Amino acid sequence: MEIAVPVQDKVYRRIETISQAVLMAQANLAWQIQNSSISVPSINLFIKYNKKEVFLKINLLRFTEKPETMVAVAAKLCYSPVGVDELLDKMSEEDINKLVRFVIKSGHLSTTEHISFTFAIEGVSRALTHQLVRHRIASYNQQSQRYVSFKDNFEYIVPPKIEKDSDIREEYDKLIKDTHDLYKKLLAKGIEAEDARYLLPNASETKIIVTMNGRELLHFFTVRCCNRAQWEIRKMAINMLKQVKKIAPIVFEKAGPNCLRGPCPEGKFKCDNPPKASDFKI
Ligand SMILES: Cc1cc2nc3c(=O)[nH]c(=O)nc-3n(C[C@H](O)[C@H](O)[C@H](O)COP(=O)(O)OP(=O)(O)OC[C@H]3O[C@@H](n4cnc5c(N)ncnc54)[C@H](O)[C@@H]3O)c2cc1C
Repeated sequence: MEIAVPVQDKVYRRIETISQAVLMAQANLAWQIQNSSISVPSINLFIKYNKKEVFLKINLLRFTEKPETMVAVAAKLCYSPVGVDELLDKMSEEDINKLVRFVIKSGHLSTTEHISFTFAIEGVSRALTHQLVRHRIASYNQQSQRYVSFKDNFEYIVPPKIEKDSDIREEYDKLIKDTHDLYKKLLAKGIEAEDARYLLPNASETKIIVTMNGRELLHFFTVRCCNRAQWEIRKMAINMLKQVKKIAPIVFEKAGPNCLRGPCPEGKFKCDNPPKASDFKI
């Protein structure tokens, strides 16, 4: 199937699959909204120089089945003379909820290490993943710039503040295009992708799979949902928090920056406009 659709700059571009058509429709809607008086808080739209759109995409691929039962059993076992099977039989949903709320409040967080969540993350920059992988209690697999050549399909992220300024945006795009041209030239001369990639910018789009346990996620959300965190990783962390809240609502009930639970510890770096609990509601 081939459909020609109008894109932002009124240029018609051919698209070949239904999913491309859906993406284009979303992008067009986002563009129309951006250029109208309707305000929509977070549409994850970034433009690439080859005029395709990159969307932040976060899929919660896998998670521990019945995570809150797992946390509750782990907590109950500590103080119980009976075995796990009996605990599982005896605990009502109300018991589970009460216990999970208690362990989170009391900081008995080792119990949340028994539940884990795996996310597939796409449409983010290498600048973001460099910050992400600093979190050590996690497992990662990232698209390689050694084994994948970006000769024909190089995509990059444009920070919103650069996006807004058309002059700067033009220079930004040009530098990235020139860099990519040189990258392709190196490949054409037989230089391996593993060396040609030294040119590629922090803006390069990347894909990563990350698995974190509940405790690490609580910590991750504390530091990365905070206004002190950089916009891109913050946006991603908030999206991840909203997804896990659907699966383990009590574990992640109060998750988010420190200021949701008490005074801000950031001292002189404290922000003027702290987030509200409603910002993290699903
Ligand atoms: C706003 C912000 C600004 C930042 N700026 C910088 C910067 O300028 N430069 C820079 O280098 N980094 C910076 N970072 C990264 C930061 O220093 C951490 O490396 C990153 O946030 C990972 O968090 P973490 O070390 O607390 O915990 P994780 O690696 O996520 O581990 C979780 C927790 O496990 C425990 N833990 C893990 N490993 C150890 C260990 N080896 N020994 C003892 N306890 C351990 C700690 O309690 C830790 O908090 C910044 C982070 C944020 C959020």
